[in-house]
Amino acid sequence: MLVIGLDAATWDVIKPNIERLPNIKKIMNEGKASTISLKQKPWSPSVWCSMFTGKTPEEHGHHDYVKDGEIVGREDIHSEFIWDLLDRKGISVKALNIPFIVPPYNYNVDFEPVANGVPVETEELLEEIEKVTEKALEILKHDKPEVFIVVYTALDKLSHHHWGEPILVDFYRKVDEAIGKLIPYDQEIIIISDHGFCDYHKAPIRTLPPTTPKGEIKGDHHPEAILITKNINYEIRQPEDVYYAIQNRYGV
Ligand SMILES: [Zn+2]
Repeated sequence: MLVIGLDAATWDVIKPNIERLPNIKKIMNEGKASTISLKQKPWSPSVWCSMFTGKTPEEHGHHDYVKDGEIVGREDIHSEFIWDLLDRKGISVKALNIPFIVPPYNYNVDFEPVANGVPVETEELLEEIEKVTEKALEILKHDKPEVFIVVYTALDKLSHHHWGEPILVDFYRKVDEAIGKLIPYDQEIIIISDHGFCDYHKAPIRTLPPTTPKGEIKGDHHPEAILITKNINYEIRQPEDVYYAIQNRYGV
């Protein structure tokens, strides 16, 4: 199974630009597309943590990248992740660039994060898409794990500063190209975002102040996330269900 996470991806950008996103269009046609209306806050660290632990934020207790002035690490989260479970059961698994902590977490993968795991500038965000794709292809071609999970984080950071601008669609195209390279390697696929995005002034939750040292904030998180599945026989309604979909598929 291949799970591709797209931090902050929203139908509000994909649908009006679908003709420019041929790989997303293709997999939507081959599989099923839907919207996840988050019950939990559209808050990246806790949503990604829920997705791969199968627990709600109340249950896993991980809410932010920093707690009491300290960077939160994997060891601070007292939950078993899907990769821990699969590995324990002898099913090969790798996870690349999973942003529930900073720098993003890797499991059974050696990966040097771009810009120390906090890429912000557009060149750094582009580099991240390229490096993650390069590593992902190496894994899919040579290691061929049963389960491979990879997340692209660039759209989240770019959407905060460039919501409503053409450059955002250019980045969706870059991510679409990356998806096009990965999807031929698997027949069972989940593509999912941790939350959507919208205009800053319409955002039901503000994760950043209106201006930051990098400039004006134009967009913020929205509680409607995207889901595309192909050959997944498990209904995914909330982020936690990704864990159960994988668990169910491998009978662990
Ligand atoms: Zn996010």
